Order: sequence, then structure tokens, then C-alpha cells
Amino acid sequence: MKENRLTSISLEDVLTLVKQRDPDQPEFLQAVHEVMESVIPFVLETPRYQRKGLIERLIEPERMLIFRVPWEDDEGNYRVNRGYRVQFSSALGPYKGGLRFHPSVNLSIVKFLAFEQIFKNSLTGLPLGGGKGGSDLNPKGLSDGEMMRFCQSFMNELFRNISSDKDVPAGDIGVGEREVGFMFGQYKRLTAEFTGVLTGKGLSYGGSKVRMQSTGYGLLYFVDEMLKHHGQSISGLRTVISGSGNVAQFACQKALDLGARVVAMSDSDGFIYDEEGLNEEKLNLIIELKNERRGRLSEAAEELGCEYHEGSPWSVPCELALPCATQNEIGENEAKALVQNGVVCVAEGANMPCNDKAIHTFRDSGVLYGPGKASNAGGVAVSGLEMSQNSERLSWSFEDVDEKLIHIMKGIHNKCVDYGGSGKRVDYVRGSNVAGFIKVADAMIAQGHV
Ligand code: NDP
Repeated sequence: MKENRLTSISLEDVLTLVKQRDPDQPEFLQAVHEVMESVIPFVLETPRYQRKGLIERLIEPERMLIFRVPWEDDEGNYRVNRGYRVQFSSALGPYKGGLRFHPSVNLSIVKFLAFEQIFKNSLTGLPLGGGKGGSDLNPKGLSDGEMMRFCQSFMNELFRNISSDKDVPAGDIGVGEREVGFMFGQYKRLTAEFTGVLTGKGLSYGGSKVRMQSTGYGLLYFVDEMLKHHGQSISGLRTVISGSGNVAQFACQKALDLGARVVAMSDSDGFIYDEEGLNEEKLNLIIELKNERRGRLSEAAEELGCEYHEGSPWSVPCELALPCATQNEIGENEAKALVQNGVVCVAEGANMPCNDKAIHTFRDSGVLYGPGKASNAGGVAVSGLEMSQNSERLSWSFEDVDEKLIHIMKGIHNKCVDYGGSGKRVDYVRGSNVAGFIKVADAMIAQGHV
């Protein structure tokens, strides 16, 4: 290992290189570790991928933008946030990945998300590169007017660097249909063009049916495949879902459709516990509370007459665990508690919600574990379908898009089996990382040293 250069291909050298370049980026390091732990053994067996600086190029973003976002709040105070867009890889297509507005956002988090996105997008089979962005804005408590002014200011800088063929952002934590609408409006005003530059748009101006549901529904389609492949069924499984935002809401809806018993959901303060299990009516109340009234789950518990507890929901016994909130919400202790309580399957709706130790605990205990880059790829997949519809100036039916989503999730599951299926249980970590890597690596080799 020489300064800023790999002299051999080993996990240790790759991680040393990342640490040398970016000593203050723990989440990015964690994401590289998780991917390279499966990719490097595969590369060492496959000489074609050992040359041409492939690994070094893969871990360095093509471009990183950091910019000031000045805006004015309702009291007339001048406020300043920081904006980010990491355009990590365009090997497979235009950069694609969401924007996150949350006070924890920093370069390490945006880089980890963009890095994961490269392999996730590759798994969908669609022509999408990997990117991610956002801001350290705290959206809680902002009025519609404040959010609009913030989004407009954010786009005043970002618009120069994105377009429907260059970089197509979408939503993520803190960025839903309202924020996408404000940013789309400003992009249109600045460029005088109506193009599919953002996905997750409202249905009246170019959004795709099923986009809102896609990450949560896709997660459950993937879980269904995982369980069926191992001779099990989702029906009747006692289920805990973390989060109560976009992904969690529609994961819950599809879990109920498939016959699961969802006993807990959470937000960043605590969780509701309903031994009877949620039903459509209770879920609709939660959705209305979160999306319209922008309230807390503690209020939902009162309205539903069920238990509410502070903290994370992972102590609640369940057979199916669906982390759909944020990164590193399941560490070793939470994973051990889940295993002790009889969890059968853990599948990630969020990005990197399980840390390395938690993943090893699940794999060592024979728990079926679906990593986010495979199990939550439904969101970006339907974003890709939204881009196709925008280019064609067409709008497909709900049934058409849902069918395509099911097909894509089954395809991702098959790829995981192809590359991670030699043991008694499919190794979804290895399967998704290696399958995602191969397509990107082949495209990079074909495109030369860029
Ligand atoms: P939302 O903002 O709609 O919802 C996020 C939910 O997670 C909220 O309930 C929020 O609680 C909770 N949450 C956020 N931060 C924390 C925290 N630090 N600790 C505990 N709970 C927290 O976001 P999404 O549903 O869109 O995204 C959730 C996850 O899914 C993210 O990891 C995202 O990257 C991933 N993802 C999203 C996709 C999408 O299409 N939206 C696609 C693929 C992955 P509160 O209500 O209190 O804020």
C-alpha cells in the first residue's frame, strides 16, 4: 500500500486507502467495508477485474458538490444550510438517487448512500448510475412557505448540475412529494424546460403511479420471494416495522395485504405496540397523522388506544423485522435480542440500518437477511420507470407499473440466488454485492480509464 494507491487487492488495503483519504467518514468506510467484504474474494478469483484500477476508481466519486443554501424563515431570520450532491458513478447511466433533508446529513452519509446506490441501481437492471444528495436542514416544524423557500434556494444552486440525462434526484428522508414539487417547480422556472429531472413527482405533472408505494411494496415482494425460496410463507408472521414514513407506511400496507400481523411501528421518539395487530383503518390513521398533520406516533397511540414506548422497537418479539427508518438503527445488541426472540427474516427497507456486527449475528444464527441494496431497490426501480414514462410522454396504469415492480424484485432475488445461493440458505449479502458489482465493473472496463 503506497500513499493514495493500492498495490495489492485486499480488504485491508482498500479500507486503509479509504481511511487515508477520508479519515472522518465512518459511514462511508462502513459501506465500502460491507460491499468489499464480498466483492474482493470474487475479484481475487476473477483476473479480469484485478486490473485497470477498477477498485480504486470504484471507491472514488466522479464528482462531489457542496454548496451554501441561504433562505429566510417566517420570522424574517436569515438561515444558512449546507447542500450536497455526490455524483458517484455514471458507468450505467445518469446519476440517480434521492435527496435527504435531515440534521445528521454530512459528506460521509451522502457518500455512503451514493456508493450503495451504484450497486442497488445495477441490480434493478435499469440504465441508472449512482448518486445521492441532500442537506443538513431540519425540516421538523417548518411551514409550507419555509420549505418552499428552502427548496427553491437549494435548486438555485443544484439546477446547474442536473438534467434528465445527467443526474435525476428523487426523495429520501425528509423529502417527499411536497419537497419534490417545490424543487421541480424551481428547476422548471430556472431552465424554462419541463423535463423529467426529478422523480417522485405528483401524479398530475409527470409522476408515476406506484412510485409512492414502490419502496415499501418492493420490500415485501422481495421478502415474499426470500421466504418462498426457503419453503416459508409471510402469512401470519408477527412483524415489527421501524419508521412510519414513506417506506414504513407502504411496507406495512403490503405486509397486511400478504397476511402478516404487524404489531409495532416507530418514529424517531418511540414506537406504538398493538398486540392485536394493525389493520387498514389503523394504518390509515397513522398515514394521515404523519403526512397531513405531521404529528408524532405518541398521538397515534392515544387515538388508537394502544401502547406507546420510548426508544427503538427491536425488543418487541417478532418473526419478521423490517427496519425502515435510518442507518445503524440495529446494532449487535438489537440483533441479539431479535435472534433470541425468534426472528426468522430481517429485510432492510432503510439504507444500511444494520451495522456489520448485526449482519454477522443474523448470518451466524441462520436468520434470512435481506440487505437494503437488494430489498429496498423497488423505489429506484419505479423511479427508473418514471423516467421512461417521462421520456415517452406516457403514463402507465397502476397495474402495469406494479407488475413491472414485481418482475424487477423477482429478478433481483434471482440474481442474489445466482451469486449467493450455494449454501443451504442464500447468502443475500454476497449475492447482491457480487451481482451488482459485475455489471458496473464490465461497463467501467468497456468505457476505458475515465
Ligand atoms: P421518511 O422521512 O418518509 O421517514 C423516515 C422515518 O424514519 C420517520 O418515521 C422518522 O421519524 C424515522 N427516522 C428518521 N431518522 C431517524 C432516527 N435517527 N432514528 C429513528 N427514527 C428515525 O423517509 P423514507 O421513508 O423515505 O426513508 C426511510 C429509509 O428508507 C431511509 O434510510 C432511506 O434512505 C431509505 N430508502 C428510501 C427510499 C424511498 O423511496 N423513499 C428508497 C430506498 C431507501 P420521524 O417521523 O420522527 O421523523
